[in-house]
Amino acid sequence: MWAGNAGGTIARGALRNGAMSAPFEIMVGRIETLALDAVVNAANRQLAPGSGVDGALRSAAGPRLTEATNRIPPILTGEAVITPGYDAPMKFIIHTAAPIWTEPGPEGAKVAGLAKCYTSSIKMAASRGFESIAFPCLGTGVYGWPRGFACGIAVAACEQELPNAPKLKRVVFCCFTEDDAKIYRDGLGVS
Ligand code: ADP
Repeated sequence: MWAGNAGGTIARGALRNGAMSAPFEIMVGRIETLALDAVVNAANRQLAPGSGVDGALRSAAGPRLTEATNRIPPILTGEAVITPGYDAPMKFIIHTAAPIWTEPGPEGAKVAGLAKCYTSSIKMAASRGFESIAFPCLGTGVYGWPRGFACGIAVAACEQELPNAPKLKRVVFCCFTEDDAKIYRDGLGVS
């Protein structure tokens, strides 16, 4: 279980355009192992069991998670809903559905939809007074987003929303691979 910044895989970032220090951390690991206030699930609009992040979180949380998510859908693209983490180490799971990059439709609407996944999740965390949250690289698995492009949207959306979440001390970008972590390090301007 990962709950701190041991291991040397984490870099802290700083807001590039302000004096306030942003609480960004970058790690390589599995999001279902994180003992934080909340982790974000790369869900679909029906909250139907999926692969990738969703499958990993459902395995860790146990069957009560699917019982809970069966009662909620559909959700809108970019909307965030919350459940307990059940048997998984995080207290809560925030479920959000990214746009599918490979589907037809205007790029601007897709970008706004992916950004909203991040802002909605941070708003949800702020409304609950959470101090920590972890995001996977939303949209970059089966939803097909180019990784660098999605990272830029993620960082910009979080930077935009964080001033409205003063209690949030840790925003962890949980990358599945070292390649993704490098994209985030470059995006945040940290070494
Ligand atoms: P989406 O449907 O939004 O594309 P996926 O779950 O397919 O979501 O993938 C999102 C990202 O999460 C991908 O970059 C994938 O490599 C990564 N990923 C897959 N499993 C995990 C995991 N257990 N923990 C963290 N990241 C993961």
